[in-house]
Amino acid sequence: ADAETTFDVVVLGGGSGGYACAFRAAELGLSVALVEKNKLGGTCLHVGCIPTKALLHAAEVADTAREGAQFGVKTTFESVDMSGVNAYKDGVIARLYKGLQGLAKAHKIELVEGAGRLVDRSTVEVDGRRVTGRNVVLATGSYAKSLPGLEIGGRIMTSEQALALDFVPPRVVVLGGGVIGVEFASVFRSFGSEVTIVEALPRLVAAEDEAVSKTLERSFRKRKIAFRTGVKFAGATQSGDTVTVSLEDGGTIEADLLLVAVGRGPVTEGLGYAEAGVTLDRGFVTTDERLRTGVEGVYAVGDIVPGLQLAHRGFAQGIFVAEEIAGLAPAVIDEMGIPRVTYCDPEIASVGLTEKQATEKYGEVETYEYNLGGNGKSQILQTQGFVKLVREKDGPVVGVHMIGARMGEQIGEAQLIYNWEALPSDVAGLIHAHPTQNEALGEAHLALAGKPLHA
Ligand code: FAD
Repeated sequence: ADAETTFDVVVLGGGSGGYACAFRAAELGLSVALVEKNKLGGTCLHVGCIPTKALLHAAEVADTAREGAQFGVKTTFESVDMSGVNAYKDGVIARLYKGLQGLAKAHKIELVEGAGRLVDRSTVEVDGRRVTGRNVVLATGSYAKSLPGLEIGGRIMTSEQALALDFVPPRVVVLGGGVIGVEFASVFRSFGSEVTIVEALPRLVAAEDEAVSKTLERSFRKRKIAFRTGVKFAGATQSGDTVTVSLEDGGTIEADLLLVAVGRGPVTEGLGYAEAGVTLDRGFVTTDERLRTGVEGVYAVGDIVPGLQLAHRGFAQGIFVAEEIAGLAPAVIDEMGIPRVTYCDPEIASVGLTEKQATEKYGEVETYEYNLGGNGKSQILQTQGFVKLVREKDGPVVGVHMIGARMGEQIGEAQLIYNWEALPSDVAGLIHAHPTQNEALGEAHLALAGKPLHA
């Protein structure tokens, strides 16, 4: 396309939110330009979801090799060779990246390489070239934040540098006990590091139901992952390859790597957003529930929109905006219905309200916690944990919280239960295959419907 072309949609940023929007818009017959300064696929594919999950899988393989004797299989664990791990991880990314590039081509999307800047409601400027569209979708994503005075460099890293390590650091301090922090803590521990998590809030994964945090903390203790909760970071100094981390309670911890996992900020600065009339709040783009920015024809999707920073939320928002532009009037996305999985060992999966949130919303709630001890498959896998249901008194299930090895795979049914506002008796009426971990969800509903089987 030449400089004269006006596209139906110009998408700024080719991550989960941006490319989903571009693909869906193209499917709907709209002409699309996608501006990307780095690599199609964004954070999730290159430095987020996919590489971390590859590392977590390698970690599981290492644990399996170590724990063979528990199952009567004689194995010896030697070591983790990061060049092999990285080759495996990079191979996964490369294949998915190739697939994504093929899809962009098949959708006849005009890929514009370079850093874009919003000039006005219908123009994005990329290296002096003006790309114009009837609609513009902002999808510039997020970056790993640090703390004031804590400079990233050397052995002080964010997830991005930590994903490219070519050695296993003997001692790791993870700053932040949220999703990214606990996933890396889990990986490093399985790779053989001594790990300490420092978290200012009183518990790990503080966004989850309290019962989940408690079980995760117990499992981490068992795995000898140390954590210091309710304590603030005071500073860090580097000397050679050693980082000394100081805490506000006067304690210090020495490490070979300080991983900073204190959250992600929106990439919205210096991109012309505010000047074009887009409202920013602490850097995030303010939108209405239809993801409109208030500037006509300009939308925002993904991590720059306040809320859950998850790839599948970005996909859903991207698809939503494409359909909105095409005039299909899609249904508004319910943020609470978005499934959440934390892929550490043990895995955490949840959807809907925590017990506390449900109590605040409904006053009276009923909960039931089904212990995986009663679940055959979990016993076979030698894992512990639970499925916790939260229901509105005499009403539908409004929250599902699960923890245990591989429990992330159970989120599919849990999200249907939540999103379809199922009653415990509805789910109790479905037959769950035996022996699966999925049965635990069925058993929890049987119990809540007043007819427990293995509970
Ligand atoms: P991004 O994926 O960040 O994409 C934004 C894109 O815009 C980038 O490609 C960037 O290069 C481009 N861009 C920025 N500025 C410009 C510009 N001026 N011009 C042109 N291009 C620009 N989510 C999950 O759901 N599951 C997980 O397991 C998971 N694990 C994660 C693990 C880690 C370590 C991290 C960091 C994140 C993880 N996430 C996970 C979150 C997920 O990666 C993000 O929610 C998702 O990538 C957000 O998509 P996005 O499109 O908003 O932004």
